[in-house]
Amino acid sequence: MRPAIGARITAVLLLTLGTFSPDRSGSFADTAKLQIGFEGDPVSYTVAAFERGRVLYVSVEEFADALGFASYVNARNGKAVLRIGSRSVKISPYNPFVMIDDAVVHMALPTTSMKGRLYVPLAHFLDALGGSFPYRPSLQQERRVLLLSKVRRNITDFDAEAKGNGVVIRLHTTRRFSPSDIAVSVQQGWLHMTLYGGVLDTVQMASEGITGIFRRMVSYQFDKSAQISFLFDKEIIDRQVSADANGVTLSVWSSEKTGRSAAAVPDAVRSRWLIDTIIIDPGHGGRDPGTIGRSGTKEKDINLEIGLRLRDLLKAALPRTRVLMTRSTDVFVGLKERGQFANAQGGKLFISIHANANASRNARGYSTYFLGVGKSQQAIEVARRENSVIQYEEAPEAYQEYQDFDYILNAIALSSYLKESQQLAELVNQNLGRRTKIPNQGVHQMGLLVLIGASMPGILVETAFMSNAHEERLLRTRSFQQSVAEALCESIQNFKKKSEEEIG
Ligand SMILES: [Zn+2]
Repeated sequence: MRPAIGARITAVLLLTLGTFSPDRSGSFADTAKLQIGFEGDPVSYTVAAFERGRVLYVSVEEFADALGFASYVNARNGKAVLRIGSRSVKISPYNPFVMIDDAVVHMALPTTSMKGRLYVPLAHFLDALGGSFPYRPSLQQERRVLLLSKVRRNITDFDAEAKGNGVVIRLHTTRRFSPSDIAVSVQQGWLHMTLYGGVLDTVQMASEGITGIFRRMVSYQFDKSAQISFLFDKEIIDRQVSADANGVTLSVWSSEKTGRSAAAVPDAVRSRWLIDTIIIDPGHGGRDPGTIGRSGTKEKDINLEIGLRLRDLLKAALPRTRVLMTRSTDVFVGLKERGQFANAQGGKLFISIHANANASRNARGYSTYFLGVGKSQQAIEVARRENSVIQYEEAPEAYQEYQDFDYILNAIALSSYLKESQQLAELVNQNLGRRTKIPNQGVHQMGLLVLIGASMPGILVETAFMSNAHEERLLRTRSFQQSVAEALCESIQNFKKKSEEEIG
């Protein structure tokens, strides 16, 4: 853990914030500029930017100049190459793919071009750069300010060596991790190592990953921890961790026989793009009413109404696609059963429909969620409420493991659908905005149990607030229910089209 450094960076950012606020009302709307500031540096830089929908785009060239990255733009085809440290980053106009060295990274939205200049959707671009970006970004979109603080990586690289009946993995670190900072778990052939306080370069880790010793290796950078996961061919029978000032050593012993569960991990990269089965999941039902509005409206009824409308729209729009529901009547279905049903049916997309509630009667608007470590208070609130459904289940103790933070981290590591889920969540967010005209409460990541269970791109939608008198009335109207269903249907169609184009 590095509480001291973390706290210091936050403090500096908060202090510096004031100096980048030329207009307290936050009305940067017409200036079409983004200000970039660096931690501890009083000078800020202004780069060309514009907002479309709710997405902020910045000029690639000016962004590179402000950050001191060398850049080259091909005037003929509009493509740009940035040098970021030792990496080359290639960006093309109207394209959602970014090449980082040899790796293709997918952004949730494509780049665009204006007056012959290349623009990237900034938040998605920074996500795509991930560990290759040498700063920790903090984007204040409403004020059009990007604050950057230097990343201090403390996990630099790793190596692995096969030994008789096992493997020795060594992470090279610039600090000592205490045993209590390191969590190791084994799940379905994967070995996950979480280092609290760890900071790593996910792109570099990936490029060093395949050594012939593991089937796959992935790494994740979270707010307060780094996670590295290895998929083994052989069954893991034991492991041991030790750490010193220069690194962490993980010894893994495996059995001679091939791991049964590891072999069962499907290698369905191609078919996963083909969205041939869609699962609609109306939240709650039966003895679990969900949220109850002040006029007595039950969330379960609204969720089902919207779900049925969505099913009809999808069947009409996509006649060759299977559209299935986890429930189509007022019955109770457990959270795990919903995921199991979706998996058993070969679902390729999972959409869970809910309505929100808040202690404040003024809270309004829609929001979308995909699997991740929740950061915002709003997302934590939603997870607490939507996950509490397990109290209605016959064996709530079956969810004990889900309460464990590690378990959620592992589930996220195992999910190879985060990018797609984020893309779908953003599409739904945009389309709900256009069709419903209620406030946008954003796209969030959260450890939602119903999403952990479904092995496919999945999102949860909170359509509006039952606790707000105006929105409770809206939720009861056929026109609002239909608008939500249309927004969802349109988003799914867009998502399906995009995903299937990528197969080529
Ligand atoms: Zn709900």
